Amino acid sequence: MSVYPFTHLPSHTTLLSVPQTSHEKFIKECYKLARRSVKRGKHPFSAILLVNNEVFATADNTFTTNLDCTAHAEMNLIRKVQHQISSEDLAQCILYSSTEPCAMCAGAIYWAGIRNVVFGCSAAALKKLAGQPLDIPCRDIFRTAHDKVSVVGPVLEEEGLKIHQAFWKRPIHIESKIKNAAVLVANEN
Ligand SMILES: [Zn+2]
Repeated sequence: MSVYPFTHLPSHTTLLSVPQTSHEKFIKECYKLARRSVKRGKHPFSAILLVNNEVFATADNTFTTNLDCTAHAEMNLIRKVQHQISSEDLAQCILYSSTEPCAMCAGAIYWAGIRNVVFGCSAAALKKLAGQPLDIPCRDIFRTAHDKVSVVGPVLEEEGLKIHQAFWKRPIHIESKIKNAAVLVANEN
């Protein structure tokens, strides 16, 4: 008997069996969440876990609000669901991310047992706007893994890049102000 409350998902989900319109629908949802994150003082990233074709959990990047450099949207999503869904069942789910998972998140996705990933903007496109220093395509990480991880992306990249174009053009002092505010909050607690 499983210790996880969520079990008995149907047989293996393959990304090839999911229509592109469905991917676009959930990537659009990721972009909506990313826009909301910016309004809340966070970085423009989000992730969604789809279980049985329904949104089971969402997460955003909380680096600016809790000063945790590992708090990427995909990592936060995995932290939310890993005690609710077994890795066997996570293999039947689809993780949607507004942006291609970085090397850290790709590793966590694999270790969590997630085997289906769809992303909006590519890391290569984001790098041109945000200067992403860890520039490794997630497919290169997954290619080295024992179990196959299916990847679809980029999806609706132009739409997602508009969010990043607006965000990363901000003066650098705004970013440091956000960090300083987070430090003050952290020190108060
Ligand atoms: Zn990441």
